[in-house]
Amino acid sequence: MARIVMKFGGTSVGDIDRIKNVAQRVKREVDSGNEVAVVVSAMSGVTNQLVDWCKQIAPLHDAREYDTVVATGEQVTIGLLSIALQEMGVSARSWCGWQVPIRTDGVHGKARIMAIDTDDMAVRMADGQVAVVAGFQGIGPDNRISTLGRGGSDTSAVALAAALQADRCDIYTDVDGVYTTDPRIVAKARKLDKITYEEMLELASVGAKVLQTRSVEMAMKHRVRVQVLSSFVDAPGTLVCDEDEIVEKELVSGIAYSRDEAKITLVRVPDQPGVAASIFGPLAEAAINVDMIVQNVSDDGRSTDLTFTVGKADLDRARKVIEEARGKLSFERLAADPNVVKVSVIGVGMRSHAGIAQKMFQTLASEGINIQVISTSEIKISVLIDEKYTELALRALHAAYDLDAA
Ligand code: ASP
Ligand code: MG
Repeated sequence: MARIVMKFGGTSVGDIDRIKNVAQRVKREVDSGNEVAVVVSAMSGVTNQLVDWCKQIAPLHDAREYDTVVATGEQVTIGLLSIALQEMGVSARSWCGWQVPIRTDGVHGKARIMAIDTDDMAVRMADGQVAVVAGFQGIGPDNRISTLGRGGSDTSAVALAAALQADRCDIYTDVDGVYTTDPRIVAKARKLDKITYEEMLELASVGAKVLQTRSVEMAMKHRVRVQVLSSFVDAPGTLVCDEDEIVEKELVSGIAYSRDEAKITLVRVPDQPGVAASIFGPLAEAAINVDMIVQNVSDDGRSTDLTFTVGKADLDRARKVIEEARGKLSFERLAADPNVVKVSVIGVGMRSHAGIAQKMFQTLASEGINIQVISTSEIKISVLIDEKYTELALRALHAAYDLDAA
């Protein structure tokens, strides 16, 4: 007997038949003697619709009321799934975030889970009742409904698994696991059996959309073993786990890309102390995330160019912030380029092997692809290139690191 948390995303509960299919899967686990908690998302498309309605009434709106609206999607699915389970003779009840309670901080729209009190739930689960829990939502210190940011039900599931000290957290989705790269672009992409928390965290943060980044952070911190698998096929998925559990480590596990990047270059900024602070300070105040940064050495000792990237959606605001800071900030001109993509090679193997970055640069060079910006971490190398080379770069790198399926 095990205690497990199962999580089903929006497409997995997209219509009534799919909800019945989910109920079948849950029943199977119950029938084999497991204690089960299920976390569900809203039916696919529902959250988008709810967000859109808020925006239509007022582009800038009270975040607490936004949470009140967007949290309703999950309330529908927990009720429907509980009814479906009861129809199959499985004891089940629904739990909204506030009923558990799942306590969060007060950052409405992007709240963090602080604590989950599972006492009542655990008693009922031990009694054979399935707990059907609304993902994405909790209750803030102000006693009002909060939500965790888009994709947040992954984080709800992992947090609940940690709080319940579950043996497993299975995340059912519309793909059957984590791939070496996007299979829609590289036909030879392979499904990974296992991947480390660290690699998954990098993959999630550079554009692979399988799991919400925060859920991976949470899993890593609490050592929750997370399996990503399909709710439509019966096959093992990808296990996200500790490095020690992986015997056959690959040098590079995955190649990710993100089109959500825009490049800004400030031409001829003064080469003197305090300049970077005066540029990135106002951007930080405007809550604009800066990712990659390069600054050249000035050849005349007086001025240099500074290039950095921001999210595509932030480009216009970033431009405005910088233009407004002119006066305190001197530069000749600002050049912006939204047609870029960030490609990242990820693998814990690069901690102990030399030459991995070199292979990336060589491979791109031999395809005639110019690298505009480079950034690295201990287990990741990212380059910014022209967006039109996305497919070419991914295919070439996938082959170069011997990731192609046989
Ligand atoms: N329903 C929410 C969203 O669409 C949360 C989730 O599905 O993870 O973002
Ligand atoms: Mg999701």
